Amino acid sequence: MISVGLDVGGTNTKIAVLNDKYKILKNIKIPTPLSNGYDFFIKELTEIAISISREYQKKKISVCIGIAGDVDSDRGILRYAPNLCGWKNKNIKKDFERVSGFKCLVENDANMASWGIYVFEVKRKVKNMAVFTLGTGVGGGIITNGNLYRGSTSTAGEIGHMIIKEGGEKCNCGNYGCLEAYCGTYALIREVQRRIKNTDSYLKKYGFEKGNITPKIIFDLAEKGDRICLDIWKDYGYRLGSGIGNIAVLLNPEITVLAGGVSRAHKFFMPFVKKRLSEYGIKTPINKMKILISNNEDIGVLGCASFALDNK
Ligand SMILES: [Zn+2]
Repeated sequence: MISVGLDVGGTNTKIAVLNDKYKILKNIKIPTPLSNGYDFFIKELTEIAISISREYQKKKISVCIGIAGDVDSDRGILRYAPNLCGWKNKNIKKDFERVSGFKCLVENDANMASWGIYVFEVKRKVKNMAVFTLGTGVGGGIITNGNLYRGSTSTAGEIGHMIIKEGGEKCNCGNYGCLEAYCGTYALIREVQRRIKNTDSYLKKYGFEKGNITPKIIFDLAEKGDRICLDIWKDYGYRLGSGIGNIAVLLNPEITVLAGGVSRAHKFFMPFVKKRLSEYGIKTPINKMKILISNNEDIGVLGCASFALDNK
């Protein structure tokens, strides 16, 4: 048996193949085939799976497709995907299985990244774990008793949309005061624009080309000791600490993992995460919890492939 993971993003689709010992046989990336409509998209994904089954001479393969969007994983339906042409209510499982003949699971991409971290980085050594994916948005995943916790509509783990400040900043989801409204990359950029009046001349002062502010530039400015950017990471850490603390008192995980591109700035924000956590009055779940940083960019697709193998 081999398994195939397909991690479908708005720009690229990552593909991973595992053997039954969880050894990585293949790990590649292609542009997501979105230009010719949904039927073409399904045809392209099934052709990938069929060519992999031929390459490894396996009649049976198990497939898991991870997608950025609202997924009904019980039925394999993509309810809504703003990043994938705004598709709504697409029965990917049924369509993929009909065309390819292979069994297929459809899961949320942040849940699959969490599963990948659980299998490949934590090596299933703990039973309870929470993951925060820190990127444009803030996502997450929850492992309880060694299983992925999906909740009743497979929408559990939307950690970014817990409210950490009533009536606070506006979130991309439309609500106010969500964790994501403080810890998504758009929040970082908002803070720079608010605190620095003329960003072009500010960047020039540090020897950077003028242009769009990115989290990487906020990181680089902090690296150069810029007070405003150090303060932005401080506030980021403090808010993230509220999010991590809330999950700690709710779920009491042994490990919380920070993943996603922004986690690379951990040296600037982690001291303030820890400071915020030290303010929690309920000490045991906070003190017993380890916080790890995961920097594997392919963990989502590896999560898909391992989830397919675990559920074959
Ligand atoms: Zn929100």
